[in-house]
Amino acid sequence: MNVIARRESEVRSYCRTFPATFSKALGSKLWDGKGAEYLDFFSGAGSLNYGHNHPALKDALVSYISGNGIAHSLDMTTDAKCRLLEAFERIILEPRKMDYKVMFPGPTGTNSVESALKLARKVTGRSLVISFTNAFHGMTLGSLAVTGNEMKRNGAGVPLGHTFCAPFDGYFGEGVDTIAQIETMLSDGSSGLDAPAAFIVETVQAEGGINVASGSWLRELESLARKHKALLIVDDVQVGCGRTGLFFSFEEYGIQPDIICLSKSLSAFGLPLALTLFKPELDIWKPGEHNGTFRGNNHAFVTAAKALELFWSHDSLSRAVSLKAAIIEDRLRQCARRYGGEWRGRGMIQGLAFGDSSVAPAISAAAFSRGMLVETSGSQGEVLKLLPPLTIDESDLQRGLNTIDTCIDQVLSARKDSPRTTRTQEVMA
Ligand SMILES: *Cc1c(COP(=O)(O)O)cnc(C)c1O
Repeated sequence: MNVIARRESEVRSYCRTFPATFSKALGSKLWDGKGAEYLDFFSGAGSLNYGHNHPALKDALVSYISGNGIAHSLDMTTDAKCRLLEAFERIILEPRKMDYKVMFPGPTGTNSVESALKLARKVTGRSLVISFTNAFHGMTLGSLAVTGNEMKRNGAGVPLGHTFCAPFDGYFGEGVDTIAQIETMLSDGSSGLDAPAAFIVETVQAEGGINVASGSWLRELESLARKHKALLIVDDVQVGCGRTGLFFSFEEYGIQPDIICLSKSLSAFGLPLALTLFKPELDIWKPGEHNGTFRGNNHAFVTAAKALELFWSHDSLSRAVSLKAAIIEDRLRQCARRYGGEWRGRGMIQGLAFGDSSVAPAISAAAFSRGMLVETSGSQGEVLKLLPPLTIDESDLQRGLNTIDTCIDQVLSARKDSPRTTRTQEVMA
C-alpha cells in the first residue's frame, strides 16, 4: 500500500479522480514520475489560469528568492506588497474606474468570503445573508452557511445559520423570474424573511454545475440589494482573473458589487493568495479586527504582480479567451447534439450536463485513462466541467476536445439505454 492510502485521511478527493503521482508540469501539461503525459483541462480548479510554471512568473519568483526577498511578513509593509498593490491599482482598478479598498484576508478563497460576510454584517448591523441554490463559497463555517451542497453542509457538525438560500437564475426553469420572487418576499413585512445584510453570488456557479447568471438577472439583483439597503458581494474566486474573458466576471454587465472576493488564479502560479475588495466607505474595520498569519505571502505577491503586467496591461489575453471559448462552445454543442447532454458555460468555463449522474464521472475517468484531466461539478457530479488554462495553445485545445468527444461517444455507446436529456429540470431530478 502506498503512503497516501496508508497515511492520508479518507477526506482526500481529487487524487481519487486523478489517480497518478505527478512530478512535473509546464503550461497545460503534467507528467508523472515515469514520464507519462497528461493534458490539463482542470487547471487546479481554476487556480492555474495561466498554466503551470509560466516561465516569466517562475523567473520573477526564483530571482526574488535568490535575492533573499522577504517570504513572510504578516501584514507588515514589504516591497513585494507595494509592487502588487501598485500594479493592481494601475492595471486593474484605475482603467475600470473602480475605487475599492483592498484587504488581505488570509491566503485562501474561504478567507476572503469570511471577511466579506463579517464586514457586510458589521457595516449593516444585520445578521442575515442571502445566498443562492447550488452556491459554493468554501469550507469554513461562515462560507459553508452560504454553500448549498448537502454533503458539504453536513460536514459542519453544527447548525449553519443566519442565512437564507434563494433560487438562483433559472433554478425553477426558464420562465420563472427568481429576483421577482425574492423581491416579493423582502417587500412583504410578514413573509418571515428579514432584511439581509448582503446577497452573496457567483456570476457562474462553477462547483454548483456551471450555472450561468444572465447579465439582466445580475443587474436586477444589484438593484434589489440597493433597494433593500443590503450589500452585494460577488464571489469571483473561481471565475474571476480572466476565466470569463475580462478580469472580473461581472465587468461586462456594468454592475458594481460592494464587496468582491478574489483568490484561486490571483497569484497566477498556484500559490495561496486572496484579496477582498470593498468600496472605501465600507472600510470600518478596526486595526487588527480581522487578521491572519499568512496574509503576507510575498512569493505570491511577486508572481501576482508579474502576471498583472504580463496578461492584463493589454487585451490580448481577453481576446484569446473569446476565440478559444467559441471553439470550445462549438465543439461541445456538436457533442450535445450528437450524443445528448446539455451545454452550459461562459468564457472558458464550459461543460455538458447529463441526466444520468454517472455519465460525467465515467467520461472524466475515460479521459484520464487517455492522459487527460477533466473534472465534474454539480450536486451529483452530473456536469462534465472543462477548465483548460486560458493560455492553452490551439493544438492542445483541439486535442483535448477530440479526446473528450471520443470519451463521450465511448461512454454513451456503452450504455445506449441510459436516459439522455437536454432539460435542466430532468438533469436536476
Ligand atoms: C474555490 C472557491 C472558494 C473557496 O476557496 P478555497 O481557497 O478553497 O478556500 C470560494 N468560492 C468559490 C466560488 C470557489 O470556487
